[in-house]
Amino acid sequence: MYYIGVDLGGTKIAVGIVSVYGKLLYKYTVKTEADKGVETVISNIIKCIESAVAEYGISISNVASIGIGSPGVIDSETGTVIAAFNFKDMINVCLAGEIQKRINRPVAVSNDANCAALGEVVAGAAKGYSDVVMITLGTGVGGGIVINGELYEGGRSRGVELGHIVVNHGGNLCSCGRRGCWETYASASALIKRTMEEAAAHPDSLLAKMVAEAETVNGKTVFNAAEQGCPVAKAVTDEYISYVSEGLIDLTNVFRPQIILIGGGISNEGERLIGPIKKYVAENSFGAGIIEVPHIARATLGNDAGIIGAAMFAKRTLK
Ligand SMILES: [Zn+2]
Repeated sequence: MYYIGVDLGGTKIAVGIVSVYGKLLYKYTVKTEADKGVETVISNIIKCIESAVAEYGISISNVASIGIGSPGVIDSETGTVIAAFNFKDMINVCLAGEIQKRINRPVAVSNDANCAALGEVVAGAAKGYSDVVMITLGTGVGGGIVINGELYEGGRSRGVELGHIVVNHGGNLCSCGRRGCWETYASASALIKRTMEEAAAHPDSLLAKMVAEAETVNGKTVFNAAEQGCPVAKAVTDEYISYVSEGLIDLTNVFRPQIILIGGGISNEGERLIGPIKKYVAENSFGAGIIEVPHIARATLGNDAGIIGAAMFAKRTLK
């Protein structure tokens, strides 16, 4: 038997054929066309699943279940996307029902960040750990929590919004309407915003020169400038690292995970990001020096984590 995992993204849909042990065997992607509305997105998901199955050379009857990792607030008990704001009209859509109607296989839906966390536990950097927190530093800050080896989805499976814990009371205005949310300081977007602000404020700095010369300014720009000795860049990366760490300490104090995984584009900075975060968390979490602190590592599966996690989520829930 095979398991299908679907990573429903804003720009592309990735469908994977996954083994019973969580190994990604084959992957097929199509464009999401989110701007064309829900019907188009659903028919693109179906097309992508059918193409993946055909290209891999199996029949849909060899597929035990289909799991979908979707952005937004999900009711995973009914397989409904309650609201995914970057999709046109994706409000109260029973994705599981719609897919199941057209492909006669059982379907489960969970939040994409949750699926990524589960994928890393099954087949990635958190393999062998039972209590895990994973965060993704991207446009926003997403996250997933695994307790005793199972995904923790919150009450009524409404998900966990790790990016919306407040790290600065009265601070930056967040898209959720509150001020000071973690993602307004710890996301890749926040780091790029600070990079641009500080480059503009210090036009003679190496950071300003590197920003001016960069084709696209991304999270790497400021880390590169800091590594080359620019004090303005160093202040930006130090500030960023402290914000990421403060949020991780809150999560450590609440959940006491064995391991924290960091994913998303910024995690490509590797040790120059993770090294200082480890030190900060070790020195500042509750009971520092007495209680053991979680391991902190990079997520290793990238986008495949969401596919594998979605497949394994369906396998576990549709019994
Ligand atoms: Zn918020």
